[in-house]
Amino acid sequence: MRLDLKLTGCRAVTMDPARPAAHTIGIWQGRIAGLDEQVEHLPAAETVDLGNAVVLPGFIDAHTHLAWNGRRTIDVTGLATVTQVVERLAGAPGEGWIEASGYDRRIMDRPLTAADLDPVTGERLLYIADISGHACVVNSVVLRQLPGITSDGWLTENEQLAARSLRLPYSLEEIVAELHRSARQVLSEGVTMCAEAGIGAGLIASSPLEAAAYQRAELPIRVQLMVSAYVLHDVAAEPADGISRAIDLGLHTGFGGDMLSLGAMKLWTDGGMIARTAALSEPYIGTTNSGQLAESDEFMRAAIVDGHHAGWQLAIHAIGDRAIDFTLDAVAEAQRRRPREDARHRIEHCGLVRPHQLERIATLGLIPVVQPTFLWSYGDDYSEIMGEKRAPWMYRGRSFLDHGITVAGSSDRPVADGSPLRAIEFMVRRRSRGGRAVGPDEAITVEEAIRAYTLGSAYACRKEHVLGSLTPGKLADLVVLGDDPRTSDAIADIPVLATIVGGTLMPQRSS
Ligand SMILES: [Zn+2]
Repeated sequence: MRLDLKLTGCRAVTMDPARPAAHTIGIWQGRIAGLDEQVEHLPAAETVDLGNAVVLPGFIDAHTHLAWNGRRTIDVTGLATVTQVVERLAGAPGEGWIEASGYDRRIMDRPLTAADLDPVTGERLLYIADISGHACVVNSVVLRQLPGITSDGWLTENEQLAARSLRLPYSLEEIVAELHRSARQVLSEGVTMCAEAGIGAGLIASSPLEAAAYQRAELPIRVQLMVSAYVLHDVAAEPADGISRAIDLGLHTGFGGDMLSLGAMKLWTDGGMIARTAALSEPYIGTTNSGQLAESDEFMRAAIVDGHHAGWQLAIHAIGDRAIDFTLDAVAEAQRRRPREDARHRIEHCGLVRPHQLERIATLGLIPVVQPTFLWSYGDDYSEIMGEKRAPWMYRGRSFLDHGITVAGSSDRPVADGSPLRAIEFMVRRRSRGGRAVGPDEAITVEEAIRAYTLGSAYACRKEHVLGSLTPGKLADLVVLGDDPRTSDAIADIPVLATIVGGTLMPQRSS
C-alpha cells in the first residue's frame, strides 16, 4: 500500500481514547489509513514533516450561517451614534436595495429610526440588520410596503421577517459567492465542517433554491444543511407511513454524502438575548419584558411532532428558559406518540437553563448546541439583563457534562466571533472580552472543550462515525496548530498553520 500523504513530526491529540496521541498520520483516499507504527513503514506519494506542530481533528462548527456571513453589506459595526450610522449610509453605491449589517442598538446614543434614514436613502429600500439576527431597522420606503405594521423603523421577529421577505430571494450566483467567502474564512480558523442553520425559509433564508447554491458551490469544506421547518408541508403519503407533513420527495436528515448532506430540521421557538426577545420565565432585569415565543404553541408543537414523525432530527432554537420548557414538553410529547431510538434532537443555543431543566435535557437525550463566543462578546450585557441569580446558568458547560449530556460547539457566525479556538478558550476560562467572569462554575477542561468542537459537534451532526477524531478509517480532516491548547495560556491566539479536509491541504487565506 502506498499512502497519499504521510504527516510526520506531529504532536497529534486524536480525541480517540483508544490511542490519544500520535506522531505520524497516514492518509489514503481521503481517509486516515493509520497512525504511528501502523503506517510508518509504508511509502507515501508525499511526506510532510510538521516539525512537532500540534494536530487536532478538524473543528466542526455545528451551527453557523455561511451565506449570511459571506454577504457583502455596508458595515456599521461599532458605530454608536445616529449621526455616524447615517453618514456611513449616505452615498451608498449602486441602486436598488441598500443593505447594512452590524447595527447594535444597545450601544447607540439613541435608537435609529426611519425618519433619520429617509433623507439619505431617497426612494431606495433600506434594510439594516441588527447584530442579534432577530431585529432590523428599515426606512419609510420599506414601511410603506408593510401595511398593517406600525413602527418607527425598528422591527423584530415576525415583523422583521415581513421586511426581510421583501428583499428575498438572492440569486444563486450571489449565494455561491457568499458561501465561498465564508468557506475561506472558516478554513483559516481550522474549521473543516459547518452545519448551516436553516435554509429555504424563515429569517435567515436566502432563496427557496438555497440547497442548489450549495450543490453549485462545491465548497472546500463539508457542509450539512439544516432545513427550515417553514418548508414542511402537507403530503399525500400512504396512510400506513404515518407521515402527514414532509418536505418535497420525503427527503430528511441523513440524505447526501460526505461533503454535502441534509442535517436537522431547524425550528425557532423564541428570539434572542441581544434583542431581548428570548422567552424567559421571569422578566429581564429592570423590565417587565419576558421575551416572546416565536410562534403560537400550536404551530410549534405541530412542527416538532410532525418533523419527528417524518424522520427528521430536530434542531430547535431555544434560548430562554421558557422556550426550553416548551421544547422539552414538545419533544417529550413527540417521543411519547412515536418513540424513536437515537432521534438525537438538538437544542440550538440552549442559552439559559435552570438547574432542574438539566435532568430533563439528559433524559430526553437532547444535545445543547452552544455558542461560547456569545458570552465572550456579550457576556457583560447578558449578565446585567439576567441578574445575579440567573447569570451563572447561561451557556453552561460543566453542568451539562456532569449530567452526561453531550455538548456541541458552534459559533452562530456571523452573530458572534467564529473562531473555535476563541470559543475553546472561553469554555475553559469563562471570561468575557471585558474580563468579567461569566458563570465560572461552568468552566470545563481544554480537552473537554476540544471534544465539544470535534466529537461533540460531529455527534450533533450524526457524523461521529466518520468525523470528530483522528481514528483510522475516519475522514482525514485535521487542523495544524502552532501550539498545544492544553498548555497554552492564550488559546485564542494560537496560529492555525494549516487545515486539511479529506486529506487535501487547503490554501490558507492571507490576512
Ligand atoms: Zn443561528
